[in-house]
Amino acid sequence: MKEALFYELIDKDRGIIKCLLCPKECLIKKDQVGFCRVRKNIDKQLYSLIYSKVSSYGMDPIEKKKTALSFLSRNNGFITGHNGL
Ligand code: SF4
Repeated sequence: MKEALFYELIDKDRGIIKCLLCPKECLIKKDQVGFCRVRKNIDKQLYSLIYSKVSSYGMDPIEKKKTALSFLSRNNGFITGHNGL
């Protein structure tokens, strides 16, 4: 578990955090998780519950990943996946 990036404490008294990582912008109460269930408010700090945890991996042709297609076509890429929505 590692402290997350991209969040702010918006209510110091009630310990409510606003996560800024994705457009959902969850408001997360103490000891609660966000919509994705992988970011948790612990003592007024936001933590990633999946940091450094890989749920799946494998080799895939670059053609399956459109972002890398233009400069690495006809190669394989090492692909990782993580829990969370
Ligand atoms: S869904 Fe997850 S990453 Fe997105 S704002 Fe909510 S807690 Fe943050």
